[in-house]
Amino acid sequence: MLKLKIDALKHEKVLHVEENLDWKELELNGERYPYFKPVAVKLEAAFSRGRINVDGIVSTGIIHPCDRCLEPVYLEINGKIEALYLPREKKPKYVEKNVELTDLENTFYYTASDEYIDLEERVLEAIIIEVPIKVLCSEDCKGLCPYCGINLNKHPDHVCPHLEKKESPFAILKEKFK
Ligand SMILES: [Zn+2]
Ligand SMILES: [Zn+2]
Repeated sequence: MLKLKIDALKHEKVLHVEENLDWKELELNGERYPYFKPVAVKLEAAFSRGRINVDGIVSTGIIHPCDRCLEPVYLEINGKIEALYLPREKKPKYVEKNVELTDLENTFYYTASDEYIDLEERVLEAIIIEVPIKVLCSEDCKGLCPYCGINLNKHPDHVCPHLEKKESPFAILKEKFK
């Protein structure tokens, strides 16, 4: 848990939190990606008239397979936390027209009886948003041979024997009469 103590914050007005979270794996779309370094969180929380503003950075790294060749990529992640916590009773009953959607997405609520705010969800979101849709070991990764699966970065001159067999008329006939 990454706790932000509300009482302490009300008293101090501004708190700085620095913590290394020892997370093992990132779960994303049903896949698991191991962290190769701790999740380092540095943030500032400011309290003013009931509003708690949280601003910070998250840096870590995950091991993610290359989308083309499946080799592990050590992906550095530097994310941002920007969140606003409002007391629960101030939750709007309807969305005002001039409230930006992005503002709402970063707005959360705490209740008067809460001792602390757990910021782990915010950290996780900051990481997830930084994971690219396509992870490549390099821009010009040649991927795998579609016929035999050999890594074409390691075997740039690969001429696939499977492809040749399939292309010969005899192989095609043989396939047909199997
Ligand atoms: Zn690759
Ligand atoms: Zn091949």
